[in-house]
Amino acid sequence: MPAHPISVAIVGLGKIARDQHIPAIEGNPAFELAGVASRNASLPSLRHFTDIGEMLRNAPDIAAVSLCTPPQGRQAQARAALAAGRHVLLEKPPGATVAEIGPLIDLARQNGVTLFATWHSRFAAAVEPARAFLADARIRSVQVTWKEDVRHWHPGQQWIWEPGGLGVFDPGINALSIVTRILPQPFFLTQASLSFPANRAAPIAAELDFADGAGVPVRFDLDWRQTGPQSWDIDVDTDKGRLLLGEGGKTLSLDGQPLLADEDAEYAGIYARFAELIEAGESEVDLSPLVHVADAFMLGRRIEVEPFEDAA
Ligand code: NAP
Repeated sequence: MPAHPISVAIVGLGKIARDQHIPAIEGNPAFELAGVASRNASLPSLRHFTDIGEMLRNAPDIAAVSLCTPPQGRQAQARAALAAGRHVLLEKPPGATVAEIGPLIDLARQNGVTLFATWHSRFAAAVEPARAFLADARIRSVQVTWKEDVRHWHPGQQWIWEPGGLGVFDPGINALSIVTRILPQPFFLTQASLSFPANRAAPIAAELDFADGAGVPVRFDLDWRQTGPQSWDIDVDTDKGRLLLGEGGKTLSLDGQPLLADEDAEYAGIYARFAELIEAGESEVDLSPLVHVADAFMLGRRIEVEPFEDAA
């Protein structure tokens, strides 16, 4: 742990900042919550800035920023912070395009600061045990079922339906971040269909077929229209048995027998890793989940479905 806590500020005080980042920062003695930059929100007894530019000009003591804003527009915020010599944590997805991240990696290196593109689902309890299990398994197939109710999880969020907001890939990229971590071989898209509501610029559902270099099928079913029980499951059929990561990676079972079930510790893991990276003077950026999403937009057949309104 560093000798003095790293002063970190939140940029974009919305749902994920309040639900996860603030408790995780407050629970990690390596960090001290030092300010908030948000146009319409503030926290009592904490310095407030209307935007990141004002914060960078007026708070030289703030050493790190966590960008919890929507992906569209985040590149400019990250660039400003890195150019001002601050460490930067990016919420997922790291950007609205793939190519915009390269200059940020260069800027972090030039300025001797850390750029950490986070994938919170990779810190779920089942992920590393699953990766170890699969390292020497013969994989026959992978089925990902990621189905949730957008009205429950993203009420009134307009940016998510705009270009760059990713639509159903906003949760779907969490599954991609796990699968790209646990499978021993890289895989690539072979076909996809994306369902766009007639009144929206982003898909509400997607079916994706991938294969690895040996032809092993990897299938993703993503849907934002799921009411009732929600599904965040990754089912891997192998010669060692059927491995199931459930609840977004919080549980793991083999042939129906539970192996582990753990509390949600994803954001505690993110901030522990951020402190390690800053201490080591390193950056961590893996764009592979975002590349798969970009491929889906490139190769996917577009299907128009009924318009989506926030109120049911
Ligand atoms: P959100 O509730 O909409 O919060 C984002 C905040 O960013 C807003 O409250 C807003 O605060 C600020 N902002 C700045 N520019 C904005 C713009 N052009 N449009 C809208 N807001 C803008 O979103 P969120 O759910 O926290 O998601 C933020 C990021 O975290 C996304 O990349 C998302 O994928 C990721 N994430 C979300 C969740 C989740 O469960 N919600 C989970 C994991 C990761 P001001 O108006 O005060 O500036």
